Amino acid sequence: MMTSAESPRQVPGEIVTRFAPSPTGRLHLGHAVSAIRAHDFARADGGRFLLRIEDIDGTRSRPEHVETILADLAWLGLTWDELSFQSQRLALYEAALAELRTIGLLYPCFCTRAEIAEAMTAPHGPVAAYPGTCRGLDAAHRLHEPHAWRLDMARAVARAGPLAFIDGGEVHPATPLVQGDVVLARKDAPASYHLAVTVDDAAQGVTDVVRGRDLFEATHVHRLLQALLGLPTPAYHHHALLAGPDGTRLAKRHGAPALAAMREAGEDGRAVADALRAGCLPAGFSTANA
Ligand code: GLU
Repeated sequence: MMTSAESPRQVPGEIVTRFAPSPTGRLHLGHAVSAIRAHDFARADGGRFLLRIEDIDGTRSRPEHVETILADLAWLGLTWDELSFQSQRLALYEAALAELRTIGLLYPCFCTRAEIAEAMTAPHGPVAAYPGTCRGLDAAHRLHEPHAWRLDMARAVARAGPLAFIDGGEVHPATPLVQGDVVLARKDAPASYHLAVTVDDAAQGVTDVVRGRDLFEATHVHRLLQALLGLPTPAYHHHALLAGPDGTRLAKRHGAPALAAMREAGEDGRAVADALRAGCLPAGFSTANA
């Protein structure tokens, strides 16, 4: 029997949302849409809006991007109640990882990127998920070598049983199995996106996750991790992505200006935010088919 997704608290003033950018580049209009939606969702209810900088990827995160992100959001007229940095919360992720390791759901993975790419190109065509090369290895004597930690997805799913989550008010069964043995701690970072985001949303009391449709598939994994770690499930609100003139997801190649460039050119950020709220997009941009 499917367990229903837990109903999140919807008491006025208790809504908590967040915007969680990775400081690996400059924000563009697509990010602005996401930040404004999350902000307004909380504010409409007198709730709290958190800003969380997802900077666990030390090789790609840059402090100067953090400064720019804060300036961009302020320029749009957004205010936040809390500012946090994932790089300062590593102990929380390590504790969650230890819990999953103790219940036997993790295994170390020593594969290099090249080996994974090769293993995923099977003779009958590319496979969608990591094929489990390191699962079942007797690796105790190799733990001094660089390694990631992967979730044994089949065991995890069997342990958790059927799960669901609410997105846009509709109940969706969680089907994380297709994503295979996802990485929860990387060779170069003590947590992956999946682990950090799940732990933080719970620890920070996020009731409603408002983010782009590109993260819908990841939600299946997050729902599973919540069940395994005994964490509450927020309500999800995945929104359509902005698309460029060719109908594909907005990217640099579309020439979408960075928010910082618009700001520096003297544009009025609050007016830009209001136009986005009203669904007015620059010529050629759309939210259709994104
Ligand atoms: N840090 C992620 C990104 O910049 C977003 C995480 C989330 O909203 O769950 O794409």
